[in-house]
Amino acid sequence: MTSPRRLVLATRNQHKVAELRAILATVGLDVELVGADAYPEIPDVAETGVTFAENALLKAHALAQATGLPAVADDSGLCVDVLGGAPGIFSARWAGKHGDDQANLDLLLAQLSDIAPPHRAAHFACAAAFALPDGTERVVEGRLSGDLRTAPAGAGGFGYDPILQPQGESRTCAELTADEKNAISHRGQAFRALAPVVRELLG
Ligand code: IMP
Repeated sequence: MTSPRRLVLATRNQHKVAELRAILATVGLDVELVGADAYPEIPDVAETGVTFAENALLKAHALAQATGLPAVADDSGLCVDVLGGAPGIFSARWAGKHGDDQANLDLLLAQLSDIAPPHRAAHFACAAAFALPDGTERVVEGRLSGDLRTAPAGAGGFGYDPILQPQGESRTCAELTADEKNAISHRGQAFRALAPVVRELLG
């Protein structure tokens, strides 16, 4: 009996690993997906790209080179129309400190305080990249469009979820169940688009 091929995902977030594992199973791909925490000696790569796709590719290539394994990475953020697409790639550190979700959300709401509901369109964007140690690469994107509330609602999710109300929804992303959000999310879409590409390249 041969063991399945190992594929590594550039994240230490086990929820992302579980989500991609479930999506890869739907395309019948027999791989063992592990997170980057299986390789604690490998440092995180600096996200020096200026687009989600560039950053996702940087992370996927760095991990494929360091492990000698096929690698997947994603990069995502919130893009606000009236801010010309910001915070975009700066979403995680919009208020200065990386990963301070509450400060990021408070700052964005303050910046948009004069903007009336018809002009509060925004979307979450995600680029998902796949890289092989030989340099082969693919990248796909997903997006979840909606409108920004003027005040947060809901206790689920993370980041800007409490203020993005997806198109056609009466609830914010933070009021959706995890399954409801995964079904429509930018990351879910990008991972689902990547799954057949991974199957083709590893098949
Ligand atoms: P990362 O690509 O997972 O590092 O996400 C970058 C940042 O974008 C996060 O810190 C959040 O601020 C924001 N973000 C990305 N995806 C989501 C989401 O699904 N909900 C809320 N915020 C998100």
